[in-house]
Amino acid sequence: MDNGLNNSRLDFKILAQNINDEPLVYLDNAATTQKPKAVLQSIINYYEHDNANVHRGVHTLSQRSTNAFESARDKITAFINAPSRETVIYTRSTTESLNLIATSFGNLVVEAGDEIVISPMEHHSNLVPWQQLAAKKHAILKYINLTVDGELDMNHARQQITDKTKIVAITHASNVLGVVNPIQEITKLAHQHGAYMICDGAQSVPHMKVDVQLLDVDFYAFSGHKMLAPTGIGVLYGKVELLQAMQPIQFGGEMIDFVHSQSASWNELPWKFEAGTPNISGAIALGSAIDYLTNLGMQNIQNYEQKLVNYVLPKLLKIDGVTIYGPHNPTNHTGVISFNLDNLHPHDVASGLDMEGIEVRAGHHCAQPLMEYLNVAATVRASFYFYNTKADADRLVNSIQTVKEFFN
Ligand code: PLP
Repeated sequence: MDNGLNNSRLDFKILAQNINDEPLVYLDNAATTQKPKAVLQSIINYYEHDNANVHRGVHTLSQRSTNAFESARDKITAFINAPSRETVIYTRSTTESLNLIATSFGNLVVEAGDEIVISPMEHHSNLVPWQQLAAKKHAILKYINLTVDGELDMNHARQQITDKTKIVAITHASNVLGVVNPIQEITKLAHQHGAYMICDGAQSVPHMKVDVQLLDVDFYAFSGHKMLAPTGIGVLYGKVELLQAMQPIQFGGEMIDFVHSQSASWNELPWKFEAGTPNISGAIALGSAIDYLTNLGMQNIQNYEQKLVNYVLPKLLKIDGVTIYGPHNPTNHTGVISFNLDNLHPHDVASGLDMEGIEVRAGHHCAQPLMEYLNVAATVRASFYFYNTKADADRLVNSIQTVKEFFN
């Protein structure tokens, strides 16, 4: 079952430790992933050998630093099959990428009375920026319903997306339900109505092969730290003609072409949107993470996670008192599973699991409208990645039983 992926566990030193006297089982990968040796080493190498500011220097270290920083951009470009490197903007995170689109692009195209269509399964990062834009522009924020299984209701999508729609912003994969949305189909629908399609890829790029040209999305956002890289580095992909039409939202060094005393002109893409000294080591480490993932194979990772979910879900469903949110027989699912146990508070369940060495998350997962939709205050979320094993899944199942007995 493991496709050799489990051997990669050895690359993650952090996993080889005990928590509360039990071997660690890390199941909080939707929040952030662990970092393999090669990624950590790329950061050390950079600071030990090449550290200098990028773009501005003629000296050797600055050139090396610039080359490494820009060649990481080339790796990202290839990884998501972006048409050119100028369409790949470094940001701090998915959150920053989405805010950049909502603020700059949203300001450009949305007018009073226009409609923005999202879904109840959006992370706050792909929801609050649209609320803010709608309020500022007197636009209308609309939602596509979910089916009882927690999938996007495509019939309702066809009703909600109309000629009045200016922007459709949907997550590729839910950070709570694990469902993967039919982005290609939704994009086609949006474009048929003259709307722009924005996709939140925070929970998809780390787990499956993403091809932004095949999806035909207008913008796509993701974070490095959910795909083996450090925090503080993210990506915004955008179609070149849209990025060219947009205004920067941060001003200063790097992003200018020429500054006069009373005016300034902007640098070319992608630097137009990269004001100030960037996260150089973070970008280089993201490049290294992409090398690592590419070597494992994104299709292998996706298949493996699907198998893990197919293995663990029926076992969880058999536990008396467990409620699973999202589809029970998924065919297209990331390693994210949300559940509740009896009438126990999710925080108690997560604390109980921590006593067993199992790290899961409890709360609203930055998706409060989804909690409202599901009619719960919070859930427990176990999220698997390729370095998790069937043994980890068994430990989760057994420990839920232990927690249940402890509290009853
Ligand atoms: N979108 C989704 C679906 C997420 O799961 C997350 C993080 O959990 C984000 C956006 C925000 O990512 P970040 O905090 O890295 O900006």
